[in-house]
Amino acid sequence: MTGAEALAKATAALSTRGIDGAARDARRLLAYVLDIDAGRVTLVLPDALSTAQVDRFETLVERRGRREPVSHLIGSRQFYGRGFEVGADVLDPRPETEELVAAALTVGFGRVLDLGTGSGCILTTLLAERGADAFGVGTDLSAAALAVAGRNANTHGVADRAQFIQGDWFGALSTGQADFDLIVSNPPYISADEMLGLAPEVRDFEPRIALTDEADGLTAYRIIARDGQEFLRGGGWLMVEIGASQGPAVKDLFSRGGFVSVSVRADLDGRDRVVMGQKPRIST
Ligand code: GLN
Repeated sequence: MTGAEALAKATAALSTRGIDGAARDARRLLAYVLDIDAGRVTLVLPDALSTAQVDRFETLVERRGRREPVSHLIGSRQFYGRGFEVGADVLDPRPETEELVAAALTVGFGRVLDLGTGSGCILTTLLAERGADAFGVGTDLSAAALAVAGRNANTHGVADRAQFIQGDWFGALSTGQADFDLIVSNPPYISADEMLGLAPEVRDFEPRIALTDEADGLTAYRIIARDGQEFLRGGGWLMVEIGASQGPAVKDLFSRGGFVSVSVRADLDGRDRVVMGQKPRIST
């Protein structure tokens, strides 16, 4: 079988199973099997595939047909121009989260804290972009996620400037450690009710604790906004990713937590995506 034939068959199979972007997914899986860039697939389409390649490709296509995300099948996902290891233990980095990174990079920081770091994509990106003077701490409840985060930090050369600690939000840190310039988080913000409406790729394959608080979606923000100032220097920033409808509620939580200059930033689709606020500079 040639690559072209395999690709056509896979695309048809995935379309029949109702996969959006069937052709694109089939192409990415074929590129993975052939160990080439997706952009180069066209060049090799006339070539015959080996039996082993056909078998591997068909197995992956079959799993994709059962809604397993492409990122899980190939084990990686691009985020802010870098490839990150992903899998069933971590939330898949999403393009919307690049908005949080972009917001964070507008403020100067030496020490950054990432709450619920997951794959570590936010922390690793911030440390890589900011350069050698920046140091970061990532916390997560999940030991399995922290193992992935550690490998991602290592892959991108920032492991010596990153520390990963297991714990619940600020629970992993000693109190009175008001020495971060920036706190970022993309916490689970999907409400229990909304979970039912998610795509199967997300609902059935991504870690539930990374998606939902099993309540109204605001639980993490209540804790982070309430306690954030304990861990920030005066003038330091708190920035969180939010769901599109959560701007007003999260802004209010930030104000009640004592943050000033609280604002909401929209993503490229014009949806509210990031809430940020500053700890007042102490003037005595
Ligand atoms: N943006 C993700 C989604 O809609 C949710 C991520 C999160 O809860 N932090 O699937």
